[in-house]
Amino acid sequence: MPSLYIDGAWTEGAGQPAAFDVINPFDQSVVRTVDQAGERDVHAAVSAARAAFTGGEWPGRSAVERGALLTRVAELLVRDKESIARTETLDTGKTLAESRIDVDDVVAVFRYYAALAGQDAGRVVDTGNPTVLSRISYEPVGVCALITPWNYPLLQLSWKVAPALAAGNTVVIKPSEVTPLSSIKLVALLEEAGAPRGVVNLLLGDGPSAGAPLVSHPGVDMVSFTGGLATGQAIIRASADTVKKLAVELGGKNPNIVFDDVDLDTAVDYALTAVFLHSGQVCSAGARLILHDAIHDEFVAELAARAERIRLGNGLDPDSEVGPLVSAAHLAKVEAYVASAVDEGARLLTGGHRPDDPALAKGFFYRPTVFTECRRDMRVIREETFGPILTVERFTDEARAVELGNDTEYGLAGAVWTNDIGRAHRVSAALRHGTVWINDYHPYVPGAEWGGFKRSGNGRELGPTGLAEYREAKHIWHNTAPAPMRWFKG
Ligand code: NAD
Repeated sequence: MPSLYIDGAWTEGAGQPAAFDVINPFDQSVVRTVDQAGERDVHAAVSAARAAFTGGEWPGRSAVERGALLTRVAELLVRDKESIARTETLDTGKTLAESRIDVDDVVAVFRYYAALAGQDAGRVVDTGNPTVLSRISYEPVGVCALITPWNYPLLQLSWKVAPALAAGNTVVIKPSEVTPLSSIKLVALLEEAGAPRGVVNLLLGDGPSAGAPLVSHPGVDMVSFTGGLATGQAIIRASADTVKKLAVELGGKNPNIVFDDVDLDTAVDYALTAVFLHSGQVCSAGARLILHDAIHDEFVAELAARAERIRLGNGLDPDSEVGPLVSAAHLAKVEAYVASAVDEGARLLTGGHRPDDPALAKGFFYRPTVFTECRRDMRVIREETFGPILTVERFTDEARAVELGNDTEYGLAGAVWTNDIGRAHRVSAALRHGTVWINDYHPYVPGAEWGGFKRSGNGRELGPTGLAEYREAKHIWHNTAPAPMRWFKG
């Protein structure tokens, strides 16, 4: 079965470069071989999206009608939930429980944008002149390239494709080459739901073969990208010549700040989930635990004891709490960060190695790892490890906690734990991060904006702003009583 989708048809593409294997990170078996797009396919997909946009059938439909298609997709996702969740687990290694939650979240995102699509068509502007009608209309940007990472393949795609289509754009999707399978399924559902020819296109392949030619293609009006900082920087540079509209969601190095007035059992529980969910492969992972001195020793002892009990295993096994890392290359990167932390003098409290269980030997597993006595200049504190590595720093007063929490080039997310309401709101206001949780970690809702300050990105996904990213505001000025103004007297 061909796996590229261009101009309303499934295709193998031009066949250059060759197809590639998608690997199950649990045992390195091949889940599926898929087609790889090259420059000719990129051009074909962008041309199809351009023709569909210019033809006007999709942008010309009412927003409510476009929303109806999104509702239909949500229904199909519910119908196929189990098979899609299974695919996501085979592809990413995450547990089936997590994959099911991802599908539920994706359904909620489609429903949210289905409802929002027709709610706000623009506004009338006061000109002070009753014979002039001045109004703002919201129009689609055009052809949008949607480029996604491997950690939440289906979820990240839904945050882009649902608002992009709701706004009337046509799209070319390029998922991560590491985890493309759920994106293939979603595109099949968009087709089944009735997306017109050319409105949705799918290219598979890596950055150099498929991503880079898409970003530099003059037929693309907007790039919405989620991924790493270095790739984001390359995309910003590559899009400069053609002055594309950009939305970039990049990495994070997220502080989880705990004061000494909280219930330790609960705070330890959340600190574990904050960082070790999905083996730490979460952009908003609470990888920097910033602890009040008074609770530090008791907290880290309990944390390490519980981290040692986390059950690693096959994502399809209901007893597994955490799956493997996504690839051999990513495992090597995580191992290198652990080595650097040890070299730079951090104290390894637990983990720091692959599991001993022979049943996990073929998978890219790594034990949950905790370092104490970390300093701000260490690589493991400054850089996004994107793995199951927790670093611990300590503070004695609020100002220092905030200073540490903001001492990062990133600004995606963070949390503060305290029962002092005033302090909770002072600290959450002072943290320069796009999301701040108070006495919680990780929850998000489709109606609330998501995105980063500083080098965590530009733009927002979700919420009304997540729709606005895919719209141009056009000012239409209508003089209903034109008469000569005689600026030039002759
Ligand atoms: P990545 O940057 O390696 O790849 C992301 C995507 O970009 C992939 O589809 C890849 O093929 C493509 N790509 C690579 N080079 C390209 C190029 N030159 N031009 C165009 N496309 C190119 O990221 P990843 O390793 O897949 O994902 C992990 C990263 O994603 C982490 O840094 C994580 O923090 C980030 N992330 C951020 C958010 C967020 O909401 N801010 C969410 C999830 C993941």
